[in-house]
Amino acid sequence: MRLSKYLFHSLKESPQDAEIESHRLLVRAGFIKKLAPGIYSYLPLALRSIRKFEDIVREELNKSGAIEILMPMVQPQELWDESGRWDLMGKGLLKFKDRNEHSMCLGPTHEEVVTDIARREIKSYRDLPLNLYQIQTKYRDEIRPRFGLMRGKEFIMKDAYSFDVSKEAALKSYELMFQAYKRIFKRCGLSFRTVRADSGAIGGSHTHEFQVLAQSGEDQIMACEKCDYASNIEITPVLRKVSEASHSGKAAESFETPGLKTIDDLAKSLKVKAEGLVKTLFVKGDKGEFICVLIRGSDEINLVKLKNQLGLENTPELSSDHEVLKLTGANPGSCGPVGLKIRTFCDQSLKAIGDWVVGANKDGFHLKNVKPGRDFSPAGWGDFTRAVEGDPCPDCGGKLNSHRGIEVGHVFYLGDKYSKSLKANFLDEKGQSKPAEMGCYGIGITRTVQAAIEQNHDKDGMIWPVPLAPFQVYLALLDINDAQTVEAAEKIYDSLTKNGVEVLLDDRDERPGVKFKDADLMGLPVRINIGKRSLAEGFVEFVERRTKTQSKVSPSEVISKTKQYIESEIAKSRE
Ligand code: ATP
Ligand code: MG
Repeated sequence: MRLSKYLFHSLKESPQDAEIESHRLLVRAGFIKKLAPGIYSYLPLALRSIRKFEDIVREELNKSGAIEILMPMVQPQELWDESGRWDLMGKGLLKFKDRNEHSMCLGPTHEEVVTDIARREIKSYRDLPLNLYQIQTKYRDEIRPRFGLMRGKEFIMKDAYSFDVSKEAALKSYELMFQAYKRIFKRCGLSFRTVRADSGAIGGSHTHEFQVLAQSGEDQIMACEKCDYASNIEITPVLRKVSEASHSGKAAESFETPGLKTIDDLAKSLKVKAEGLVKTLFVKGDKGEFICVLIRGSDEINLVKLKNQLGLENTPELSSDHEVLKLTGANPGSCGPVGLKIRTFCDQSLKAIGDWVVGANKDGFHLKNVKPGRDFSPAGWGDFTRAVEGDPCPDCGGKLNSHRGIEVGHVFYLGDKYSKSLKANFLDEKGQSKPAEMGCYGIGITRTVQAAIEQNHDKDGMIWPVPLAPFQVYLALLDINDAQTVEAAEKIYDSLTKNGVEVLLDDRDERPGVKFKDADLMGLPVRINIGKRSLAEGFVEFVERRTKTQSKVSPSEVISKTKQYIESEIAKSRE
């Protein structure tokens, strides 16, 4: 490809809304163009990387026995009513009506549609196992689309769905996908971790996320220093040992705490540590009912664990200050569990505190010597807080460390959640009708491509891993008006292309400085500089983008050197 005839413009300025480097670089290097919040066009360079990643995904999925299909993006409400998710998905599901007043949505994920195919196609156990996948544009009306392609409203996803005769067989399909995903992300040259995760609105019980490690990642991961345990902090259990304290036996007593609004204020005034105090929080359950949760003053609440342990459908939201005031008669800071007529749950770590200090539900007052079970009745005890660095590993007792990650893939074992509600049954060997056992498996195609840049860039621009690079070589022709240099460049261009190397020839009428800047920004793995002066001395320059190391090579040698470099990089990613 010749840059003079391509669609490429680099920008000096970063876009205002870009908060992370990969977003800035994709826009500045002319890879993507924003149409509306969370909605982007993929310009030719981005599309080439996307297609390359899709090819890797296809190759590995086909190898593991999955079959590619393509399902509709527009889906009727009736199907979503069958699974019960039309209402459950809330505003994230973009709904609309067609000219006949039929309610439709844009597919955010395809469990319903694929299960509809399965219930028509699968007759008996002989049709199983079956794993269907597609690579397609999804639409999710995200509350806060941001970070460019990382959290878009419209994005490309690979989604696969497996159908099996039993849980055992389904877990085998899961394992096949798990291994395929590992090969896929390894082949992209990404540094990632597989982590245990929460299953969210999709449902199911057994699930792992594939997380690309990056400081700017939206997810927090807790990983063991000693063993290979890692989980999304959303589900990391807190297993700190607590030694139970006993109560003094004194009666609860109200005392004045004027102006003390935070746990830290209270801790200072009472001369105790925050961990010796009780924090009272309120959340709203599935039907908008209020629930009170008590945790230690030094801890943070974990709403996903709360959802799972209380058996809620949705992750609860924290109540607003206004709602708290209406419910308790006091502002947050002076609230507590005593006298409330709602369910109250206590974090297990509170057992380490003997006499509790809690808000008195009257502004400027607290109660001391409070005892759960005597002064109020807890509806239950559990593990409702966020793990912190240094907490013990659930598998080996080692130390947990915190990392940031970008979720690029997710594998779920679903069981019969969808096959049951949508009646995707098969006849087993005894002729009995049974719901198929399912799994579902997603990869964020566009998110992964951007994650590769988030993990691989420097101050001058992107550094594409060879397997995802839009082109492999940037051939910088430095003297476009010198016939000999042009001829030599054309020769190298032809030879490399004939050898299967993907070359972008910068034949624009621009100064060398501009070409070098654009080359660094675009981040193709190899740059070859060819100029009048060096050519007269019998060499061209071979520059490796990642290390910026330069070597002088003769025009004939540069072909084999480049080929070797590209091939060895690809071989490394497949090891
Ligand atoms: P997240 O927690 O980041 O919102 P999710 O868990 O809802 O993602 P899944 O339903 O598991 O996402 O979707 C499969 C994959 O699709 C994710 O692992 C992620 O890589 C990608 N993905 C999900 N939402 C988006 C988005 N808004 N923009 C780009 N990619 C996305
Ligand atoms: Mg997910």
